[in-house]
Amino acid sequence: MPDPTTDHSSAPSTIVLRNPATEEVVRELTLATRADADAAIKRAAAAGPGWRAIAPADRARLMRRFADTIAAHADELAALETANMGMPMGNSTWCANAAADVIHYFAGAIDKHTGSTIPVAGGVDMTFHEPLGVVGLITPWNFPVLMASWKIGPALAAGNTAVLKPAEITPLTAMRLGELALDAGIPEGVLNVVVGTGPEVGWRFVEHPTVRKVAFTGSTAVGKRIMAGCADQVKRVTLELGGKSANIVFADADIEAAAAAAPGAVFDNSGQDCCARSRVLVQRSVFDRFLEHFIESSRHFTVGDPTSPNTAMGPLVTAEHLARVRRFTDGLETVYTGDVPEGPGYWHPIMIATSTDHSASICRDEIFGPVAVVIPFEDEADAIRICNDSDYGLSGSVWTGDGSRALRVVRAMDAGTISVNSNSSVRYSTPFGGFKQSGLGREHSMTVLDHYTELKNVFIATGS
Ligand code: NAP
Ligand code: MG
Repeated sequence: MPDPTTDHSSAPSTIVLRNPATEEVVRELTLATRADADAAIKRAAAAGPGWRAIAPADRARLMRRFADTIAAHADELAALETANMGMPMGNSTWCANAAADVIHYFAGAIDKHTGSTIPVAGGVDMTFHEPLGVVGLITPWNFPVLMASWKIGPALAAGNTAVLKPAEITPLTAMRLGELALDAGIPEGVLNVVVGTGPEVGWRFVEHPTVRKVAFTGSTAVGKRIMAGCADQVKRVTLELGGKSANIVFADADIEAAAAAAPGAVFDNSGQDCCARSRVLVQRSVFDRFLEHFIESSRHFTVGDPTSPNTAMGPLVTAEHLARVRRFTDGLETVYTGDVPEGPGYWHPIMIATSTDHSASICRDEIFGPVAVVIPFEDEADAIRICNDSDYGLSGSVWTGDGSRALRVVRAMDAGTISVNSNSSVRYSTPFGGFKQSGLGREHSMTVLDHYTELKNVFIATGS
């Protein structure tokens, strides 16, 4: 089934990667074709039986060695990420080390994803989690090495072999992961990294019958097309998509703490974060006080050279993405607009706006840039109503000093990943994912292994 949006005859054959902070050329690459994708799928299929046959403890040992190799190259991976996508060095170093931790976690999970025995009449009944075979992994440009690790870890731990297509504008760390896997002793063909465009290579994972599952992280628009494409073969699909998450601040919260944490929750990674708490809902009685502190904290959110250890926010990823974000922010009335460095680079300032009209684009659309909207609410019911008035439901925060209220509100929120008196979203040992159009399935924890395996039930008659 051809991707209806694709004209393969005009697919680009090379890509020039530019440092988003300097616009200097970082690398020029030849892009993979459908034929290259098919060859990688073939290599993955050939490696499958061998990988499955490795004893669980030995597979775990190989994956631990892979994790250690990633950690040993964390500085190199961080430098590549920063040069390729503009992420501040502090964050890219954290991401590279976190990628190693993720692989470690799933190495440890291999012999703990157990089946069960079920009491039945006339025999013994048991379940097995069987690998799917070849899985297709498609990852976005905003957290390249981290997103790749989130999918490689459970895919390989569950006994699958993988083809990985990173976003072709930020492929460098994923390409390096493929090399490091081989260096660590992961057998040839188990992890195959194919750098090409989505319609050319990613869509091949959807079409190709050998690929038994597509695990996708990216935009909701592309996710919907992938889900529809997978329907043709009833192909397994998991989706981690966009968000427009709410950061809800009640009057009984520690307002200074909530306001001090709010900039990081939306401007980190220049707002190019699916979990960004880009809607800040504040109870009316503390609205002005919170806003004043939020603006003050945002002034200290240092924007500039991503290679400097003091930088909190770098540029946007590409000139194209900057133009996309500007379509949302041109003419936007703000209560605060920050500064950006002069000279080259794809810089967008931090912007804070307020709104009482929740139908406005700034309250509804995922901008994926450093833009927050602060929205007043009256009471608990009003906060929940505004929070849930969204097509998305990925993450969210509740700030309150009242424990009962915290529990009432988090239970009522239509979102998959919530924090109280904190904006943290992600831990590899806890499930991560979204409600509604923010996705399907979960990443992380033992739960994700169910999405990378088929559940097989076996009954053995033993006589009565
Ligand atoms: P995107 O445009 O949807 O692309 C994501 C990936 O899909 C890229 O590798 C892309 O390749 C590929 N792709 C594009 N069209 C395709 C097609 N027709 N068939 C198969 N693959 C295709 O998203 P993005 O702009 O890279 O990333 C930003 C989005 O990701 C945001 O919406 C963000 O919220 C979401 N995100 C979600 C999570 C989460 O866990 N929920 C995490 C991070 C990001 P190309 O390189 O050719 O574009
Ligand atoms: Mg894209």
